[in-house]
Amino acid sequence: SSLNLRVPVTLPNGVTYEQPTGLFINGEFVPSRQHKTFEVINPSTEEEITHVYEAREDDVDVAVAAAKEAFDNGWSQSNPEDRARGLFKLADLIEEHAETLAGIESLDNGKSLLCSRADVALVSKYLRSCGGWADKLYGDVIDTGKDYFSYSVREPLGVCGQIIPWNFPLLMWSWKVGPALATGNTVVLKPAEATPLSALYACQLVQEAGIPRGVVNILPGFGKIVGERLCTHPNVKKIAFTGSTATGRHIMKSAADTIKKVTLELGGKSPNIVFSDADLDKAVKSIAFGIFYNSGEVCCAGSRVYVQDTVYDEVLEKFKEYTESLVVGDPFQKDVFQGAQTSQMQLDKILDYVKIGTNEGARVVAGGERKGDKGYFIKPTIFADVSEDMRIVKEEIFGPIVTVSKFSTVDEVVSAANDSVYGLAAGIHTKDVNKAINVSKRIKAGTIWINTYNDFHQNVPFGGFNSSGIGREMGAAALDNYTQTKSVRMSIDKPQY
Ligand code: NAD
Repeated sequence: SSLNLRVPVTLPNGVTYEQPTGLFINGEFVPSRQHKTFEVINPSTEEEITHVYEAREDDVDVAVAAAKEAFDNGWSQSNPEDRARGLFKLADLIEEHAETLAGIESLDNGKSLLCSRADVALVSKYLRSCGGWADKLYGDVIDTGKDYFSYSVREPLGVCGQIIPWNFPLLMWSWKVGPALATGNTVVLKPAEATPLSALYACQLVQEAGIPRGVVNILPGFGKIVGERLCTHPNVKKIAFTGSTATGRHIMKSAADTIKKVTLELGGKSPNIVFSDADLDKAVKSIAFGIFYNSGEVCCAGSRVYVQDTVYDEVLEKFKEYTESLVVGDPFQKDVFQGAQTSQMQLDKILDYVKIGTNEGARVVAGGERKGDKGYFIKPTIFADVSEDMRIVKEEIFGPIVTVSKFSTVDEVVSAANDSVYGLAAGIHTKDVNKAINVSKRIKAGTIWINTYNDFHQNVPFGGFNSSGIGREMGAAALDNYTQTKSVRMSIDKPQY
């Protein structure tokens, strides 16, 4: 194949930019060794945007070697201030290129510009926060008596294999690359095959930020080939994965032979509870944002709404009205809240769940169908009159579909909320502080949002209980995923003087 390593792409807003199409290895965009390419689709039009080179196992080996070289001979020994400076500069460059990056994200993923802009804003904040941690990694001095000097230091792991999904392509890139670099690791990252563009564009900025070559390597390609090789490669010391629980389970097994450190950010079916004493108008907006934000392609989406019986009808009515007012369509149009689903596969899967829910006897209150016949658009959908054993209540749909259940007591709703294999997040809407704290203690989830939802901050850790994952991202907790403790214990001779 004779694909150019940069192709001009025109965004729907008229802006043209140069899209890198190569693998990013050792500071350069290069063709894949086997010269295979794959197509990248615009989910809003179903048309091809471009092709990019497809990495295979041999490319993984070359990228891992480059990352290992960069780790051994530079980055792991670098002055923490230099790592900080690199990340600060990268954060600044992301800000400078924010509109282009947001445009790429909307083009490639289908999400509305509103969502893409929020992603990019969090990316730069998070990278800056990681820069701030780089020179604040402390070990301990442990008092073990006068005959010894014992201390611990935190050291990087080595080459980290990172595998990310298509729902937040650039944001997940930053959640992986940021803490790995801050702590002195080097990375080989595989973006999702549906959305490789922003990760490649951002690599140019990594170079411009002065981060040495080989520290960040990006391999567009498929999970079963590139992902699998990363999980079994002996020189990859850690796998960080975000995606489905099924793939996460498989990755853990693949990584077991070489005893890699594994962190997983997986699926969810998160409850979002509205108590009768909540500010109902605010709560309705929050539950809508909780499920329909990012076209429902959010691992922590509040996909199971529980409303207290005394306000159930009122909330359902307001929720329907608000949901029907949300503008769905071309992600680049002003006022559009919800763009396209990311792939035909997702569209089909979600529409299947609409059928499943209807056959199970749930009632469609809003949406329930595709919007238009070009582009992967789905009307935001509310199912009411659900029972807790229905598949639409149990299984992750990963689209703009929410179920609404009625409850009467706190005990009842806590037990329903916890009746899930997942445990990523939960929402509580109430004006009663005591109830909020009490219920938040009883719900088994990694994040509890009170009177808000899908509300992230770069310093607040995020991650799952149960089958939702292992490890935490963002905040100080993310550094634990990328460091190992070395203990040093020195015997002190009796003084001879
Ligand atoms: P996936 O988990 O299979 O894909 C995520 C990433 O893993 C991609 O980069 C993919 O290439 C890679 N991958 C796939 N198989 C692999 C393997 N054997 N070894 C190593 N890497 C591998 O998700 P998907 O197939 O794109 O989507 C399926 C469903 O997963 C969705 O419908 C949704 O329910 C869920 N999902 C969840 C999240 C999340 O953040 N929780 C993200 C994406 C998808």
